[in-house]
Amino acid sequence: MKKILLLIFISRSLLSYSQETKPKLVVGIVVDQMRQEYLYRFESKFGEGGFKRLVGKGFMLTNAHYNYVPTYTGPGHASVYSGATPSVHGIIGNDWWDKGIKKSVNCVEDDRHKPVGNPEGNGDVSPWRMLSSTITDELKIGTQKKSKVIGISVKDRGAVLPAGHLADGAYWYDGKSGKFITSSYYKNTLPQWVETFNGLKLADSYLNQIWNTVLPITQYIESSQDESPYERKLQGKEKPVFPYNLKELRKTNGDFDLLAATPFGDDLLTEFAKASILGEQMGKDADTDFLAISFSCPDIVGHAMGPNSIEVEDTYIRLDKNIEDLLKTLDKEVGENNYVVFLTADHAVAEVPQYLKDNRIPAGNFAVSSLEVNLNDFLQKYFPGKKIIEKISNDQIFLNQDLFAGDPKSAGIDLLIATELITNYLQSVEGVAQVFSKAVLKQGAYNETGIKGMMVRGFNFKRSGDIAYQLEPHWISGGGAQGTTHGSAYSYDTHVPILFYGKGIKQGASSSYHAITDIAPTLSVLLKIKFPSGCTGQPISEILD
Ligand SMILES: [Zn+2]
Repeated sequence: MKKILLLIFISRSLLSYSQETKPKLVVGIVVDQMRQEYLYRFESKFGEGGFKRLVGKGFMLTNAHYNYVPTYTGPGHASVYSGATPSVHGIIGNDWWDKGIKKSVNCVEDDRHKPVGNPEGNGDVSPWRMLSSTITDELKIGTQKKSKVIGISVKDRGAVLPAGHLADGAYWYDGKSGKFITSSYYKNTLPQWVETFNGLKLADSYLNQIWNTVLPITQYIESSQDESPYERKLQGKEKPVFPYNLKELRKTNGDFDLLAATPFGDDLLTEFAKASILGEQMGKDADTDFLAISFSCPDIVGHAMGPNSIEVEDTYIRLDKNIEDLLKTLDKEVGENNYVVFLTADHAVAEVPQYLKDNRIPAGNFAVSSLEVNLNDFLQKYFPGKKIIEKISNDQIFLNQDLFAGDPKSAGIDLLIATELITNYLQSVEGVAQVFSKAVLKQGAYNETGIKGMMVRGFNFKRSGDIAYQLEPHWISGGGAQGTTHGSAYSYDTHVPILFYGKGIKQGASSSYHAITDIAPTLSVLLKIKFPSGCTGQPISEILD
């Protein structure tokens, strides 16, 4: 009896050690601007085969968060795929002030490369500013580059950062031509399957449609009324209400660019994802492949309309159908038990501040431009004739370091004085909650708690500014009475879904806290490969079979 048990034990452990247990394909889905709350609020409108299939048959973490500030798209995608935070991977914003060249840079811009697919397109990009490897890079390294890695999105950074440094391809939507393009970083011509897909001119047909709600509009009881004072209007539209005649509106809203502000951009990306699975033969051989998908349109609709709009709800009901469609394709092409899907978001989103103010909840719009003017005026008393503030970017103050590089006796002291003066000044400004100088953040431990810890993990000493501030809850930089944004350290921006589904994943749910940086090392354990180079997260053992 004991021998038999031992044999069973040995054969089971051999089985779990063998390569057989690896999935043939990993599909990573990042939804740009998705709250965990949406899975509950819109649940009754979802079908059985989309989000509900991932939740019901997979594992849902109900208490997953970004563990740093700022909660933006570029840093979010880099953190999901590297298992690190901006202090390590260096993607400190979508754009930031580059101290060295004294110019704002985009997280994926790279003028050493050229667009491929449309010479006028937004394609001079690469992942070179991301300082750590990604899970996708580690998969390539671990299989001597036999695994195939493809990243796709409507936004360039949503495709480029997840696909990593070694990707076989990354493709994104070009708002000038309505085509998917790439960069010469990856290849010098588009593959035939991408050319064929572009030849279908799907973007054009979506933009000749009318966007109406997919269900009768009276059923959208989970959202506010359609005509709301908190929603932005498209150019040429009198009110922010359905129906949206895209054929008319495209003339005044950047033509092909308009697609990204509608759920049809997600439809287009889903069709492109299916074409990539076939075109690249994803999940067909022994080496695990990786398809990284980022749905950008919920973010663009969400910024304009806010989380209580029917436009956002309709976008999610349609995204649910896209996910169902994608899963069906994976069942058919890869086989139901041969793939793994994870779904998360790059950040969540704040309520529209004006809506909160009108409902007696503290909120506000913070005017960065007047802060810059006022701060420079204030500093004139102490440093006459000098413009101390070089830039305010992503809630950080960048000082004009050249002004402190002169007299070696006084330079360092002047810098300390300026930093102290600015820190004190900021603490008195309405809307500012906390202020930290670079020196204070330098002393903070990586696992520090509270807002300070969120800042420490998001602060890169080479790239970030000299002083960082965090606004009060539900204060956003800029904006007016309509629309909203994200970027803060508060839970409305940090709390996102993490769903895992498929081969090697348990069924269940957990409300234990998990950080976004735990996704990449969980995939490393599942795929039996190294952790990404800068990884600071831990595998989520409760979800692994
Ligand atoms: Zn985003």
